[in-house]
Amino acid sequence: MTKVNESDYINNFYFFRLYPYLCSALKTFVRERCMAGGGTGEKPEGSDDDKEYYVSFVDVDGAYNMRKLSTAKIGSLVRVVGQVVRTHPVHPELVSGIFTCLDCQTVITDVEQQFKYTQPSICRNPVCNNRSRYDYL
Ligand SMILES: [Zn+2]
Repeated sequence: MTKVNESDYINNFYFFRLYPYLCSALKTFVRERCMAGGGTGEKPEGSDDDKEYYVSFVDVDGAYNMRKLSTAKIGSLVRVVGQVVRTHPVHPELVSGIFTCLDCQTVITDVEQQFKYTQPSICRNPVCNNRSRYDYL
C-alpha cells in the first residue's frame, strides 16, 4: 500500500481537482483577515467580495522540458523549462460557468469547467430532472 501525502495530491493527478478549493480557501482567508484587521465587522474600504484570488506555487519539484511533456501529466502541477520563441495574445479561459435551467429557470452558479465547455450534470432544483437543457449566462 502506498502512502499519499499532501504534496502527492498537489503535484500529481489530483491538482486540478484541488485547485478551485485552494483558491476558494485563499479567498476566505483574505476576507477573514481583512475583517479581523478592521475589527469593526464592516467591509474594509476598497474591498471587493467578487475579487478572485489565485494560489501560486514556487519551487515545484522537478522540471520538464516542453518537448517531453506528455498527456500523462494532464491535470498535474508541473514546472516546465523552455525558451520562448514566439508569443500570442492571451486568450480568456472559461474557468467557471453560470447556467440557467431551461425547464425550471433555476440559476446554477459555479459550474466548474473541466478543460472543455461543461454544463451541469443535473439541475440543482430537487424537483427538476433536467440533465441537458441549459442556457449559458
Ligand atoms: Zn431545472
